[in-house]
Amino acid sequence: MKRLLQGLVLTALLTGCQQPVEEEPLANPPAEEREEAAEDNSTNERDYAEDEGEQEAEEQEESSAPTASYQINQANWTVEPVTDEEEQVVLLTIDDAPDQHSLEMAETLKELEKQAIFFVNGHFLADESGKEKLKTIYEMGFEIGNHTMNHANLSERSDEEQRREIVELNELIEEVTGERPRFFRAPFGVNTETSAAVVEEEEMIAMNWTYGYDWEADYQDAEALAEIMVDTPYLTNGANLLMHDRQWTLEALPAIINGLEKEGFEFVDPAVIQ
Ligand SMILES: [Zn+2]
Repeated sequence: MKRLLQGLVLTALLTGCQQPVEEEPLANPPAEEREEAAEDNSTNERDYAEDEGEQEAEEQEESSAPTASYQINQANWTVEPVTDEEEQVVLLTIDDAPDQHSLEMAETLKELEKQAIFFVNGHFLADESGKEKLKTIYEMGFEIGNHTMNHANLSERSDEEQRREIVELNELIEEVTGERPRFFRAPFGVNTETSAAVVEEEEMIAMNWTYGYDWEADYQDAEALAEIMVDTPYLTNGANLLMHDRQWTLEALPAIINGLEKEGFEFVDPAVIQ
């Protein structure tokens, strides 16, 4: 499997990084639903009648807590509830931003009142216009993730180069937005021991994805893409959806979101992923 993936990655590299063949779908079957015993975090009935002050304090604490929280399953990259939040959710992610279409994609998502993570590359921030786009997308309320400075295949870089690919982009993003990214996605989904260590030092959460299609020749068309993104057998609770800064993906976004909503899925706000 590892050899197969490396072969696919090489093919992708040979055909050029900017082409939408850059990331290959995982061949894993949809993750089996885990039959984990639901953790019973329900508050025990406790009688605070004797101490109303304590009860009031607790109620205040509850009302200021986040309304939901999720985590990334590091085995299959799905988004799963930490306690009893909604399970039938998906996470929207947009890679290789901010190139030509990210800003319009952000505007489309905003109109549809949906959140997403934009995974950015340093080479799109080389000039002022790239930085402006990033700042605008951030100020619209979207989560900004780290996708390395140069879209490097980290397994082909030295430890020091890998570190720079990740840390220098965090610094650059922080310079533009004032906030260091919380999420990391390795180009081609190739994580290494070094990248894992740097991600941990930087207190980021790493994620690959569950499925995506917009780099495949058959789906470089809005209608075909919108259909497969909803009809795919890989659509499971918590699916982590990979999309890119591409014209056809921008055009397909409303139909993808509409289709997923019709199937009963909600959309996780990355802000509540811990
Ligand atoms: Zn990428």
